[in-house]
Amino acid sequence: MPEFLSQCPLCKDERSTLFDKRVFRGYEVENRLCSNCGLVYQSPRMTEDELKVFYQAEYRQIYQGSEGPEQKDILVQKARAHAIVNLLQESGVDKVEHFADIGSSTGILLEEIRDVYQCQVVGIEPGDAYRQYAKSRNLKVFDSLEAADAAGEGEFDLISLIHVLEHVPYPVGYLRELRDKYLSQDGKILIEVPNLYAHDCFEVAHLTSFSRHSLVEVVKMAGFVTEYLEPHGRPRSSMIPLYISLLARPVGVEGGQPEIEIERWIGIKRNAGLAHRRVIERLLPRQAWLPEYRM
Ligand SMILES: [Zn+2]
Repeated sequence: MPEFLSQCPLCKDERSTLFDKRVFRGYEVENRLCSNCGLVYQSPRMTEDELKVFYQAEYRQIYQGSEGPEQKDILVQKARAHAIVNLLQESGVDKVEHFADIGSSTGILLEEIRDVYQCQVVGIEPGDAYRQYAKSRNLKVFDSLEAADAAGEGEFDLISLIHVLEHVPYPVGYLRELRDKYLSQDGKILIEVPNLYAHDCFEVAHLTSFSRHSLVEVVKMAGFVTEYLEPHGRPRSSMIPLYISLLARPVGVEGGQPEIEIERWIGIKRNAGLAHRRVIERLLPRQAWLPEYRM
């Protein structure tokens, strides 16, 4: 049975209003808007046990119609991996020694970073078919961070979560655990999520829908400071900011918990963003969706 959240996963306020309700591939999906901080989160939602079962079997099936990687999938992942390495280089990351990609899928990003930075790479991928595929390409991939840790792959100086954080039930606690257990002191995290103001993001597996603002706040409350933040459409669009990328480093917690900055007018911003997207799609269809990745 799905569970209702009694509190906002970011600020813990109990007040919220219905933000969006729809049926996504047979699942009823309801998203709520926190009346205090403005975070948009799914509630009711699958319990953690239900999510585990969902990811092991159902997830790839309902999203891609198969359990293993397909050609289109691999093309998009390759293009995305190039874009991510460019972003790292442009934001001044010139050295990586031990890299972990959480949600490593086919392992294409692992290969790209290994080759560019000449470093050790480890993937975390709970989906059996993708993990086996990556292993068949001689990559080190585990089904959880705990398993990687038990195998002596504990500490990393770069951890990426590319289209992962929106799936995590409690993102602040999750990132804090990454910082405390798995990230070296001078390490960095790289996050990419769908953009609430441009992406039609209310899918059953998306538990939080981030704006630039709420992503920075989640990262801040987990003990990081944002060094680089960019909405963009790579690799699928040159004009629609479908995604948000963020690079952050851990900060000390001596000063106690920072205060959450509140975001307002979320519904208006989303409507404006989606209206802008429709205009671009109509006037500049070739730039709106780049040909190889048109869905
Ligand atoms: Zn809140």
